[in-house]
Amino acid sequence: MEFLSTSLLELVTQTATNLPPDVRQAMSIAANTETPGTQSSQALDIILSNVDMAVEDEGPICQDTGMPTFFVHTPVGVNQIKLAKAIRGAVAEATRRGKLRPNSVDSITGKNSGDNLGTETPVIHFEQWEEDEIEIRLILKGGGCENKNIQYSVPCNLDHLGRADRNLEGVRKCILHAVWQAQGQGCAPGALGVCIGSDRAHGYDLAKMQLLRTLDDVNPNPTLANLESEIMGEANRLGVGAMGFGGKTSLIGCKITAANRLPASFFVSVAYECWAFRRLGVRLDAATGAITQWLYRDPSRLTEKMARGTGFPLTGREVVLTPPLAESQMRALKVGDVVLINGEMFTGRDNVHAYLMKNSPPVDLNGAALYHCGPVMLKQGDQWSVKAAGPTTSIREEPYQADVIKRYGVRAVIGKGGMGPKTLAALKEAGAVYLNGIGGAAQYYARTVEMVLGVSLMEFGIPEAMWHLRVKNFAAIVTMDAHGNSLHADVEKATGEQLAALQNA
Ligand code: SF4
Repeated sequence: MEFLSTSLLELVTQTATNLPPDVRQAMSIAANTETPGTQSSQALDIILSNVDMAVEDEGPICQDTGMPTFFVHTPVGVNQIKLAKAIRGAVAEATRRGKLRPNSVDSITGKNSGDNLGTETPVIHFEQWEEDEIEIRLILKGGGCENKNIQYSVPCNLDHLGRADRNLEGVRKCILHAVWQAQGQGCAPGALGVCIGSDRAHGYDLAKMQLLRTLDDVNPNPTLANLESEIMGEANRLGVGAMGFGGKTSLIGCKITAANRLPASFFVSVAYECWAFRRLGVRLDAATGAITQWLYRDPSRLTEKMARGTGFPLTGREVVLTPPLAESQMRALKVGDVVLINGEMFTGRDNVHAYLMKNSPPVDLNGAALYHCGPVMLKQGDQWSVKAAGPTTSIREEPYQADVIKRYGVRAVIGKGGMGPKTLAALKEAGAVYLNGIGGAAQYYARTVEMVLGVSLMEFGIPEAMWHLRVKNFAAIVTMDAHGNSLHADVEKATGEQLAALQNA
């Protein structure tokens, strides 16, 4: 198996950096369908540019390279123990090269292993088959969308939709509810893998395995094919839009399977996948480990550019913010304003927020821009460089954010997906704003970093440390202002009403 390591490394690298053609096509359609000039359309423009940048630099499409999950078929006689070892080796090497972010955290000690290896990571599903070759499919699904997976035990009552019964109509309601509850937090537009039935644990597995289907395939079961197409139509009338900004495309795919269940149980399990739908596969010669065929893509075809323009079309009306930020400047901003940040910002996510509740900050946060981001970083000589740096889901910091803003004088919080009422009240009280970056646009934002000025709290590991970054033209949209307005609350309300209208239609 002299080519096995190289083949596996290529699979991991290509999956992390090059979106498959079916997802590219769906995202192109979404961008062309969106109303020009809207926030959703601007978000899609950045996303398309980001996809191109990732290919150009062979850098991660999104900084969250997810839980590497392999689905492997082997002929009888292939040593699965050796194959698993080679897979783990490729994952560690891809991490060392900055293609994957170190994402494996010990759940008891909180320590990041640094190489994406650890108990049950990566995830490898093995199955034997009667073919001669080895087939390996890989999905890199990030935490933001993984957190929006949802499982329903029907019958149940759903917001805006009422009771979901144990029939296909009940299933339809659950799936629509899954799209609605995700809003922009899973980096919409998303794709769904759904399993009707099975038990709790296997139902989620089967739902995730539906994400191995291409977005443009047709379900061989006509009942499920109808349901998939019905959901696509209805979900895209909800108006969640890209990043939850409100817009025409909320879903780029819906793939449903059904499995037998226990008489007492009826689960609908939904795996929510973000737009950065990284899924590729290879077939390998079982004797040499060489790639004989790529799945989902044709490497002999040129990868077409996706961007329609220069990424984020500037209008000249953008507000330039140069930290440290003044309260008066923040109070002058309103929802919908586009800002460009020039100067220093600090990253801070889950560990940093928990730390700040008990300890003073390692830097002066008065007037600071605090970026919810866990970047991919590589040390070259003495200098760190940023390989990917998009925003992470902000709602996780809701229990801490109001205190952090009020205690330390943070003036701008940057993230994605928006935050809740406690943060909104703190923004109003303190005179601060929430800025929504474009989730998954990790290459785009990495290119705004002029210099890594330093790092604090490195003991938390690379994604969780507080990085001091100097940025230029870092674009974001004010989605929560100091006047009590929240685009996220508005879109959630409007889409909830639309959900209710679908129920009554
Ligand atoms: S695109 Fe969004 S949800 Fe997907 S991995 Fe990146 S940050 Fe997470």
